[in-house]
Amino acid sequence: MYNILDLSLDKLKQWMKENKESEFRAKQVFDWIYKKNTWDFDNMNNISKVTKEKLKKSFYIEIPEVVHVYKSSVDDTFKFLYRYRDGNIIETVVMKYKHGNSICVSTQIGCRMGCKFCASTKEGMVRNLTNGEILAQILKAQEEIGARISNIVLMGSGEPLDNYDNVMEFLNIVNSEYSLNIGQRHITLSTCGIVPKIKELADRNMQITLAISLHAPNDDLRKNMMPIANKYTIDEIMEACKYYIYKTKRRVTFEYALVKESNDSKECAIELVNLLKGTLCHVNLIPVNEVKENNFKKSSMDNIKRFYNILMESNIETTIRREMGSDIDAACGQLRRSYLKSNNEVKGV
Ligand code: SAH
Repeated sequence: MYNILDLSLDKLKQWMKENKESEFRAKQVFDWIYKKNTWDFDNMNNISKVTKEKLKKSFYIEIPEVVHVYKSSVDDTFKFLYRYRDGNIIETVVMKYKHGNSICVSTQIGCRMGCKFCASTKEGMVRNLTNGEILAQILKAQEEIGARISNIVLMGSGEPLDNYDNVMEFLNIVNSEYSLNIGQRHITLSTCGIVPKIKELADRNMQITLAISLHAPNDDLRKNMMPIANKYTIDEIMEACKYYIYKTKRRVTFEYALVKESNDSKECAIELVNLLKGTLCHVNLIPVNEVKENNFKKSSMDNIKRFYNILMESNIETTIRREMGSDIDAACGQLRRSYLKSNNEVKGV
């Protein structure tokens, strides 16, 4: 049995052919799933009984169960705690804006990158999500909010480039007309900086936005925050980014979480300017989200502003990320972790 959401249209057509069915049935099935939110073969009423039976013998449609919905009271942010059929829990965040709805999807159950400030990685990685499982986060969220989602950020739990093949197939399908038809320019992939995969991504010539979780202007400081810095240097990351820009002509985003008494000094800001000057980029400053499990503290507003001003005065376009859904722990694995804890699924905490 396979999850039909893992299949592209071409693959389902192929299956139809092999099963002595007309190829156009594939498009009809996907219309039900993607355009009409119908996730039960029995309710697809232009599909014959015989075809339905064949489909049911080979496929299931895996839409995660909603374990809980958290609605922020300060803004239009929703956080969904989903459960997949194997019992694993993940979280997905939806932000409703006037200009369209955005979703932050998870790409793995847990994460093995070990960033010290991040809650997603505390229990390590359980497994990769399949492309269909990533896509289903969007399908279910659209049904829940009763509206179309038009922007995707791959910034939930997991490292997308550590689940490269599934994430690429997800991007391919979500971008297709028969599926959700979300434009590449409306998709951002965030990575802690897996250099060879950034280059591979560049060679695909896609129009998605690449975001790099940089968080420090030099390797020594970065190594204190992110184990991946022991594997790839900032110089190597910059070279890969320049290649990405050269191939795609897209502006790269650098994410920089500001941590008190660590990476928010004037000197760090100047070092960052020197690093990024001349690169087609944008910096997103994130006041670090304080999670219970570590002692990374948020920078003061004064330091955040000073950092911002130094970058802007040097003509590096910078934004300070709005903290969405702060009252519902809408950041990075915090909810899954507190859920697992309250169900005694995390030991020693
Ligand atoms: N693994 C990918 C994507 C998931 S994390 C990556 O590293 O980019 C999404 C973003 O949230 C990353 O920039 C990550 O560094 C950041 N992040 C994780 N925990 C955070 C925290 N406690 N406060 C602020 N940002 C955090």
